Amino acid sequence: MSQSINPFEMAQKQFDSVARQMNLDPSIAEILRWPIREYSFRIPVRMDDGSIRVFQGFRVQHNDARGPNKGGIRFHPAETFDTVRALAMWMTWKCAVADLPLGGGKGGVVVDPSTLSLREKEELCRGWVRAMWKNLGPRTDVPAPDVGTTSLMMGWMMDEYSKLVGQYTPGVFTGKPIGSGGSLGRTEATGFGVIYTVREAMKHLGIDPTKSVAAIEGFGNVAQYAALGFVDILGGRVACVSCWDHRAKKAFTYSHKDGVDPHFLMTIVDEYGTIDREKAEQAGYIVEDGGAWIAKEADVLIPAAIEGHINAETVKLMSKRVRIIAEGANGPVTPEADEYLKQNGIFDIPDFLCNAGGVTCSYFEQVQNDMNFYWSKDEILKRLDEKITSAFHDVLETSLERKAYMRDAAYIVAITRVVNAMELRGWLTGSF
Ligand code: GLU
Repeated sequence: MSQSINPFEMAQKQFDSVARQMNLDPSIAEILRWPIREYSFRIPVRMDDGSIRVFQGFRVQHNDARGPNKGGIRFHPAETFDTVRALAMWMTWKCAVADLPLGGGKGGVVVDPSTLSLREKEELCRGWVRAMWKNLGPRTDVPAPDVGTTSLMMGWMMDEYSKLVGQYTPGVFTGKPIGSGGSLGRTEATGFGVIYTVREAMKHLGIDPTKSVAAIEGFGNVAQYAALGFVDILGGRVACVSCWDHRAKKAFTYSHKDGVDPHFLMTIVDEYGTIDREKAEQAGYIVEDGGAWIAKEADVLIPAAIEGHINAETVKLMSKRVRIIAEGANGPVTPEADEYLKQNGIFDIPDFLCNAGGVTCSYFEQVQNDMNFYWSKDEILKRLDEKITSAFHDVLETSLERKAYMRDAAYIVAITRVVNAMELRGWLTGSF
């Protein structure tokens, strides 16, 4: 995480600038620039060595005008109230831009999950639910996986909640394992969603996907399926992936003279997105410093790690060939870098549009949980493609009509929908 940028200030800055462009009533803006509710709690866990360690937990509910709060839980050592606030706010815009009947929320725990045993992780997950369960529910607030959390963890959390309320309640968490209320396609959904937006951007810009090259930052869930989709769905080449190595405590960039093979790399990556460096080198991969990815000759950059990595300094390292930035991560581009992209005519697909595939499939998961009837993977990926493609075109149309930068256009679409829901519910005449 970049030390210099406070993500919540960045989220508010982006919002304020669009609110001004839209002439949004300042009192409505004041509601939206802060979360409606915030929870901070301590989670004691009995560790394997018999000691007790106390973890800091958070949940932030930004806005629920359009439906239950929705958004993941991150387990990250640099988590703060402000990172969670920013991410919760972005979830409100993400659900609105994808036109899902959901609001925005986010949770977190200050922890490096790679330092915990499986049992300790389970205790921490169950402890998080015991602290928050009264404020969660399929009609209230529905968490999901994010950086540092997995589908297995969502299964434990759903189980803990179900025990506490005394009935099986699969719709309270999404991203659960298949066979325990999870949806087919959820694992692929965020990365494939990124690729659907890249495909539409390429059509708009007249770029041939089969002649295109991508450089990807990250190799966690989003980056893995974005890489796979770039090769298998678009027929393009992936020049490199860069990933955090939790053993070396630094990032490395992996490239290969024939382009990286995401299928192979997915066989040598662990659950935290760390590639086995030795095995990669044996297979002919070139390993460089983690920052090298951004300077690779590529048409498309896909930052799919964490926030603030394309900033005032790194943006200038980008190759002149780059035409599209597809924000797989939440908040990867800082406002200073945004200015550079605008001035250089680079087409940016903003995070809350680009990576909306995950929450869209989460919504499908909830619908299936509610019906207790499950769709096939083909059906889900088809619906996902339709939803993401239509969201992309809603934003593109607004961007062309108003001559607005894509991020600003996405904000305009999202804010308009949220304010409309607030208005229709009577919130703007005083009944909150
Ligand atoms: N954590 C993911 C995101 O940032 C998914 C959220 C969800 O499925 O609720 O979009």
